[in-house]
Amino acid sequence: MTDLFSKFDPLIEQRRALLETGLTDPFNLVMEKVLSPTVAICNGRETILLGTYNYMGMTFDEDVIAAGKQAFDDFGAGTTGSRVLNGTFHPHRDVEAALREFYDMDHAMVFSTGYQANLGIISTIAGKGDYIILDIDSHASIYDGCKMGDAEIVAFRHNDVGALEKRLKRLPAEAGKLVVLEGVYSMLGDVAPLREMVRISKEHGAMVLVDEAHSMGFIGANGRGVAEEQGCIDDVDFIIGTFSKSVGTVGGFCVSNHPKFEILRLVCRPYVFTAALPPSVMASSATSVRKLMHGSNKRAHLWENSKTLHKGLRDLGFQLGTDEPQSAIIAVIMPDLERGAMMWEALLKEGLYVNLARPPATPAGMTLLRCSLCAEHTNEQVQDILDRFERAGKAVGII
Ligand code: PMP
Repeated sequence: MTDLFSKFDPLIEQRRALLETGLTDPFNLVMEKVLSPTVAICNGRETILLGTYNYMGMTFDEDVIAAGKQAFDDFGAGTTGSRVLNGTFHPHRDVEAALREFYDMDHAMVFSTGYQANLGIISTIAGKGDYIILDIDSHASIYDGCKMGDAEIVAFRHNDVGALEKRLKRLPAEAGKLVVLEGVYSMLGDVAPLREMVRISKEHGAMVLVDEAHSMGFIGANGRGVAEEQGCIDDVDFIIGTFSKSVGTVGGFCVSNHPKFEILRLVCRPYVFTAALPPSVMASSATSVRKLMHGSNKRAHLWENSKTLHKGLRDLGFQLGTDEPQSAIIAVIMPDLERGAMMWEALLKEGLYVNLARPPATPAGMTLLRCSLCAEHTNEQVQDILDRFERAGKAVGII
């Protein structure tokens, strides 16, 4: 018998070697208690959270929590079924209405996660004989959506408008084409040149899907994302989003103005063949989405936090993923995995949680400490964060 697990041996060995040095496992952290969107107890210690994607701090919003509790009482704990059978409750319809209002679009379809939204939409709309043209640094859920479908996949260099155009030019004019982009790329926190990319895609007869997971609620005049900010949202055919970041709950969605969009509810397998989210989550999400429509004060403070942290880290001598802060994600580039893991642990001991990101999730084989800011981080917390980075960076020898 061939052990099917032998393919994991290199990873098992790498993990063993890392943990043998006595390092805390960076991928096994437990939040023992969560006190607020920005503070939790981890390993018995009060810890500032700087790696949660909880951009707008909605996880503890009292209206969001109250809506969920009410839905527990009114609808019970779960749906026990697919959206197309017994799993559509009033809150599912309501959250879709909230999304249509938020994006000012005709259609909204909610999935159990953002991962499933990408999986479902991409694999369903791009079929045999069609082409998917995607940025090489696309999220795993986009790649998995491509793998699940039958379309030809063409990747282009990250954020390179010329490379996208070159690829599009080479494709048969009459073939169906879907260009897949992200507003903010989550590894480095950089923003896509959507305006140019959408224009070129349209010139070549392609439909465009933009994953705005990391910009919803924060970027754009109404928080609709980078496509809104760059003035090209009307030319985007499909926006994918998630409730697991700014909205503060869980779930994924697609919004669109395509006149035939609703047919997807019958043909999209990751929508049909899985249970619908609990009504409590849907009611909390609907309340959160509606509150995000009036979040401009919070957005301004989040930008301030992002700018302060970016400048502070750069002044301390850290190498960052972008020259200027472009989003609420700031990536600190580590020299290698070993020192990245040491730095991650030193920060945790200082009472600061960030995400350790490593290949293959990262571009160019980089090890990153990813910081995601929250509108609820106070100025004092951001200063504390910088002090902790300085102490940890000096202790590990990175600065
Ligand atoms: N798209 C992007 C760009 C993401 O970063 C993520 C999650 N990190 C997802 C989709 C998936 O979202 P969810 O957590 O709702 O599955």
